[in-house]
Amino acid sequence: MVVSGAGPAGARAACLCARAGLRTLLLEREPIPREKCCAGGLLERAAGLLDEPLPDRVIEQEITSVGIIHRDFRADFELPSRAAVTVRRSVFDAYLAERAQQAGAELWSPCSISKVAERDDGVEMVAGGRAVTSKTLIVAEGATSRTASALFGPYPGRDQGMGIAMRCTLGRDPGGRMEYHLMGTPIERFPARFRFPLNGWMFATKRGANIGVAGKDIGGAEYRTALDGLRRSIEERYGGAIDVHVSAHPIPMVPRRRLHTRRCVLVGDAAGLASPLSGEGMTNAFRSAAHAAEAVRGLIAANRPMASYRRMVGSDVLPVIRASRVISPQAQWLIGVVDTSTLMRKMHDDPELVSTCLDISKGERSWEALLRLIVRKFPYLFFSSLT
Ligand SMILES: Cc1cc2nc3c(=O)[nH]c(=O)nc-3n(C[C@H](O)[C@H](O)[C@H](O)COP(=O)(O)OP(=O)(O)OC[C@H]3O[C@@H](n4cnc5c(N)ncnc54)[C@H](O)[C@@H]3O)c2cc1C
Repeated sequence: MVVSGAGPAGARAACLCARAGLRTLLLEREPIPREKCCAGGLLERAAGLLDEPLPDRVIEQEITSVGIIHRDFRADFELPSRAAVTVRRSVFDAYLAERAQQAGAELWSPCSISKVAERDDGVEMVAGGRAVTSKTLIVAEGATSRTASALFGPYPGRDQGMGIAMRCTLGRDPGGRMEYHLMGTPIERFPARFRFPLNGWMFATKRGANIGVAGKDIGGAEYRTALDGLRRSIEERYGGAIDVHVSAHPIPMVPRRRLHTRRCVLVGDAAGLASPLSGEGMTNAFRSAAHAAEAVRGLIAANRPMASYRRMVGSDVLPVIRASRVISPQAQWLIGVVDTSTLMRKMHDDPELVSTCLDISKGERSWEALLRLIVRKFPYLFFSSLT
């Protein structure tokens, strides 16, 4: 079987397929290691989906302190245990591809599919100029996947957000710190449709930070102003940024309607499975990879239909994405209506809310737990924070 794309979704899917005894070919368009535009925040719940603890050489920083910043308000949380690590994607993704090879997958890199056609008994493709026939194809080419467009139609531009990430070295070490900056203009009316407000981050790395902004339906000038403002505020605290490297990449904000055909399956960003609440995508990349590997094995070994993939993703990935699409604009509206500093302070001082968020980042509790809690606490939080 073939996996196209050696990012987190593809490398993980290839590793699991090879380990299940399937002859696996992993194709990657770029030479490995390759850089990927990303903030590099790997939540514990994502790392926990891998088989073994990450080796030290892959970890940039262990995150033990989180800050939430909105205008002149900031809430800081010292965490009792690490909730995430930061990684440099070139190193992390190369590690995942290496694990796939150790499990028995063959890697062709740089190599990409130039033609693909699905037949009744297999998938025919041309990869790196060579004709390849495979029983199944896992498409893991990320948000700009050409193979996904060829097989499933283009991903609508209106369903994509955009992220801009800046890696840099800083004068002073920010330590194990992760900051989220709520930057978007609050929505004045109760939102009738999905919005992804402009937000920013600063994630500590080995000798500096990954700083960036993400949003949707926003012009280039607004991104630039937001990134410049964020950079200035971070330089004031941690000294001037040097060795600056800036990149931008789309973030899918809604899952594709069709996630598989009889023999082809979409995983990770190619399937549109990033979080529409935060843009975080590696947890669902790993989850969908595991489900795809299971479905492909079922098809090849027992002729079980690929529809099992839809069922598996429908049980643990899609419900969270749907809930996030509802929560995201409403949370933004709330910021416009209440006194945000008061609301944040109340949330910050609520141990039940804080521990639930921490458990979610570690994968120990689900989003439903937070939703239930917020529904219960909403009247108090809302009315006591009105301006
Ligand atoms: C600015 C920004 C910040 C982000 N920050 C975070 C974060 O902190 N934490 C987090 O969890 N997520 C974050 N994300 C989302 C995360 O980067 C993605 O969800 C994740 O990379 C998806 O993994 P993937 O394997 O599906 O796709 P990708 O990582 O995009 O990998 C796709 C791979 O396929 C290859 N490829 C493409 N086309 C072809 C082809 N035709 N043939 C062969 N290979 C091909 C590419 O070279 C690439 O290696 C961020 C995204 C952005 C844009």
